[in-house]
Amino acid sequence: MAATAYFDYAASAPLDPRVAAAQAEASALIGNPSAVHGPGRAAREVIDRARDSVARLLSADPAEIVFTSGATESNNAALKGSYDAAARANPGRRLRMLASPIEHPSVAETVRFLAERSGAVVDTLPIDREGRVSAADVARLITPDTVVVCVMWVNNVLGAVQPIEEIGRAVAAARSSRRVGEPPLHFVCDAVQAAGWLKLEPGRLGIDALSVSAHKICGPKGIGALYLRRGAEIEPLLRGGGQERGMRSGTENVGGIAGFGAAADLVVRDRETEVGRLAVLRRRLLDGIASAGAAILGSPGSAAPGTVFLQFRNRGGEDLALRLDAAGLAVSTGSACEAGSRKASGVLRAVYGDQASRRGGIRISFGRFTTGEEIDRLAAELLRLAA
Ligand code: PMP
Repeated sequence: MAATAYFDYAASAPLDPRVAAAQAEASALIGNPSAVHGPGRAAREVIDRARDSVARLLSADPAEIVFTSGATESNNAALKGSYDAAARANPGRRLRMLASPIEHPSVAETVRFLAERSGAVVDTLPIDREGRVSAADVARLITPDTVVVCVMWVNNVLGAVQPIEEIGRAVAAARSSRRVGEPPLHFVCDAVQAAGWLKLEPGRLGIDALSVSAHKICGPKGIGALYLRRGAEIEPLLRGGGQERGMRSGTENVGGIAGFGAAADLVVRDRETEVGRLAVLRRRLLDGIASAGAAILGSPGSAAPGTVFLQFRNRGGEDLALRLDAAGLAVSTGSACEAGSRKASGVLRAVYGDQASRRGGIRISFGRFTTGEEIDRLAAELLRLAA
């Protein structure tokens, strides 16, 4: 049988060999980056270079980049940090958070935790049939007590792209009408599924905190970053030696950081041509299965080029994913973090209701190493299974 064709880039993309080489080289450095001696300075230089690379990926200032263990940590740090800073400055005030209903569990569960532990009031944005929230609803639902607006850039299940620029403007307008003494307002954005193909400019778009993860852009697992706008004040999640300008204590993951930097460089260099190539592969897949009668969920007109969510009439998502796996084709039923627990996808439920959610579907996600031949193999098998 042919080697397994991998269509689960949205869960984790393959490590690029050029990234692996940079990571291995940096992992061999012996010094602690905080040490003043030569070996320490060598490790520090590697981190500084990678910070410049990740800053370029985000069109940010290197001083705005905080390395973390991944986007789960970045999201926790941004949300808890923003909420706790606001709560500390406004004792006794009932503060609110406004979030989309299709956030990744690392956001959704953190918001729920803040409601339970700290008494945050959570307002949830309406969502349309294409999996998109609207900036008008954001503007309408922000109150003087709202301290966090949280909307992900690209949804990890549907690939739906949110109107981040318009939302940024709505948040900025609400902020500028705040009076002295009213709590701060932070726009927190999970950009994990956007970083590999969209030009991210959080500073220009009014985003205060933005999360990215290296393993979604062909970098190593277990390393990510939090963009924190200069001047945005949050409480650090981890306290200790004061690394990362006090925002994330702990000896830096030098190898992972070097790998993340190399992965960011490759995205910046190849982004434009790669997006075009992925759009061609997407068309090839959709043309190939046109007669299968599958529904494309999400917003086909504005979706991540490498993510397609399909629902088939004759087979549920799990059934299809298992049959495809047996044929050497690795796809997902949604989010890896939700798979395995047999509960229906929260994203599908929020957008399409219980029935569609129970039926499920398959998420096909592809990227840098996907070939046209692999797409054709997948399309042929889907046609066979749908017949
Ligand atoms: N947010 C989104 C949208 C994701 O897809 C993921 C990864 N499944 C995460 C956050 C968590 O990232 P990490 O694996 O780096 O913790």
